Amino acid sequence: SYRKGGYHAVRVGDQFAGGRYIAQRKLGWGQFSTVWLAYDTRTSQYVALKIQKSAAQFAEAALHEIEVLSAIANGDPSNSKCVVRLMDHFKHTGPNGQHLCMVLEFLGDSLLRLIRYNRYKGLGLNKIREICKCILMGLDYLHRELGIIHCDLKPENILLFSTIDPTKDPVRSGLTPILERPEGNPNGGVTMNIIEKKLKRRARRAVLKISERRASMGGTAKCERTLDGIDMRCKVVDFGNACWADKQFAEEIQTRQYRAPEVILQAGYSFSIDMWSFACTAFELATGDMLFTPNSGQGFSEDEDHLALMMELLGKMPRKVAIGGAKSKDFFDRHGDLKRIRRLKFWPLDRLLVEKYKFSENDAREFAEFLCPIFDFAPEKRPTAQQCLQHPWFNLRNSTQDEMKNEANMGKLNVGMGNLKIKVGK
Ligand code: ATP
Ligand code: MG
Ligand code: MG
Repeated sequence: SYRKGGYHAVRVGDQFAGGRYIAQRKLGWGQFSTVWLAYDTRTSQYVALKIQKSAAQFAEAALHEIEVLSAIANGDPSNSKCVVRLMDHFKHTGPNGQHLCMVLEFLGDSLLRLIRYNRYKGLGLNKIREICKCILMGLDYLHRELGIIHCDLKPENILLFSTIDPTKDPVRSGLTPILERPEGNPNGGVTMNIIEKKLKRRARRAVLKISERRASMGGTAKCERTLDGIDMRCKVVDFGNACWADKQFAEEIQTRQYRAPEVILQAGYSFSIDMWSFACTAFELATGDMLFTPNSGQGFSEDEDHLALMMELLGKMPRKVAIGGAKSKDFFDRHGDLKRIRRLKFWPLDRLLVEKYKFSENDAREFAEFLCPIFDFAPEKRPTAQQCLQHPWFNLRNSTQDEMKNEANMGKLNVGMGNLKIKVGK
């Protein structure tokens, strides 16, 4: 992908925007871009530099993302609404062409990594409440104030928010600015590897310190095994697929496991598809497992399996909803029954939480009462982000003992447990 039209190769110390930003290390990458930690010499701040691939379709996608991110930044001058902030954007010309670059506020690890670091055990419910609150505040802002649908909400696209300022506390954050390209080796690749290794080692040391002090998440810091006492804050990122509710352009949206039923059925969609993905995300935080992991099988498609999984958890889809989409006829007969997957094993959410994930009856009931309304098959009946924030579940608080018990119970879980259903192909 590092060829004409593709990614821009970056070396530590490379300068951007006339020397204003200096590349420090790679933070991540996606299908469209590489993302680098950069030092902003004008403000003495760290930023995330998203460098888009150069071909025309990627440039177009970046322009759209910049448009959405600009609306988000303009509507939130105090940067308090749990959505990533665009700080600048510019073009950068390199050997592979011209790349649009976005300068974003520098955030921490994604919730996916948090789930991984926690060894797929699931987090305590008190922490999940804090994280859910942040996500809902972000969604409420996007939906109600801006009319924007994210269209790709999932743990990978929610980043933890550092409360450590690396420029004020380089030791704890494990970051010291690199202001010029490391000297000596004309072979940049090798130099970069050495520098990266060094940075990683430094980061690891800093992590240990952080764990000892039970301090907050930050910078390159990884989360500690016991997540006790961490201030959980996060922000929604990756607006490459977002759209305005009144200006939709794509039908195939959302990442498979977080996709709402109306998107599968092509029955039109709105803000409530983000709510569906939100509820899937909350479940995953609590259990370490994705809620729906559909597969195609003999005689049925991934889509049909996905609908079957939903109905096994949530009950039968109302006929009106089932037959209401452009693709309904591919999956449902006229009675609203699946054509190729006939025998469904109903396993409701609260029972699943108790039986498979060893939740206490109480925790399971309360969590299910919060999530189930969001999993309404009828999109217009799902509560909005604003309504979810009012839910009494947010006023509950588990005792420290319960919290520890939850995480301990999770520990007994097998990671690769099978699907929650029995399915008969026809
Ligand atoms: P995708 O294929 O998911 O659409 P993309 O090319 O649009 O990818 P992003 O998802 O925006 O790129 O970013 C890629 C990765 O870079 C993220 O998963 C994350 O690890 C990292 N990243 C993105 N933005 C930031 C940020 N503001 N702060 C820190 N890391 C970030
Ligand atoms: Mg992404
Ligand atoms: Mg993207």
